[in-house]
Amino acid sequence: MSGRLSIIGLGPGDDRYLTPEARDALEAADALYGYGPYLDRVPEREGQPRYPSGNREERKRSEAALRHAADGAQVAIVSGGDPGVFAMAAAVCGEIERGPETWRAVDVVVVPGITAMLAVAARVGAPLGHDFCAISLSDNLKPWPVIEKRLDAAASGGFVIAFYNPISVARPWQLGEAFARLLRHLAPSTPVVFGRAIGRADEAVTITTLDQAAATKADMATLILVGSPQTRLIAREGRAPLVYTPREAAEVTA
Ligand code: SAH
Repeated sequence: MSGRLSIIGLGPGDDRYLTPEARDALEAADALYGYGPYLDRVPEREGQPRYPSGNREERKRSEAALRHAADGAQVAIVSGGDPGVFAMAAAVCGEIERGPETWRAVDVVVVPGITAMLAVAARVGAPLGHDFCAISLSDNLKPWPVIEKRLDAAASGGFVIAFYNPISVARPWQLGEAFARLLRHLAPSTPVVFGRAIGRADEAVTITTLDQAAATKADMATLILVGSPQTRLIAREGRAPLVYTPREAAEVTA
């Protein structure tokens, strides 16, 4: 008998962002797999073993969970945010593609979650009100020139850009390079939003401009939104400004 593998999005951190579907799927699982800090967000339950692993161990984690599910168990892998956005759902698909035929018989269920980009946008207004894209700045899984090409295309195409994985100890220079690259296409006054640890106790949101955006202000828990030429701020007395991108398209001016 083949079991089920649920790949569950936990949202950005706040429990209220966990969907009822995700809560049910966590409850129904015989065993939980995931990156340790994500598993820590799920309450422990007697009789439900958990198998934490490191954040670079996506392939091993996927294989172990697939093997377990192929034996007939109801297995869950947890992911921060949405499991389909730079996360475990694609890792699992990759292992199914490469793996034994029996893994194709596993019932795979992807349970969506609120991705970081949407949580950050909601904090500041409506920066994603018109066309946008998401780019992971990690060059662990793709060469840097590919990222540069995408930055040029996104900025010159008039997209609002969300940066996931902006910086890490092993990747200290990429974010600064990315801002410099975008300044070739975009005005220095282009709004930029840093959203850090959204939904967690140490949440912080900063609104700045592209020429003032400092890579040192970001860490691995930060998502960055860079506006399009249409993105603007609405100043408000005694309140943070609203950042928004109007819904109607104008000429591409970048
Ligand atoms: N699947 C996740 C993204 C994984 S990539 C999702 O859908 O959100 C990891 C990156 O996501 C981090 O480097 C950061 O850029 C972003 N991120 C994840 N959680 C975040 C949070 N609570 N606040 C801000 N950014 C977050």
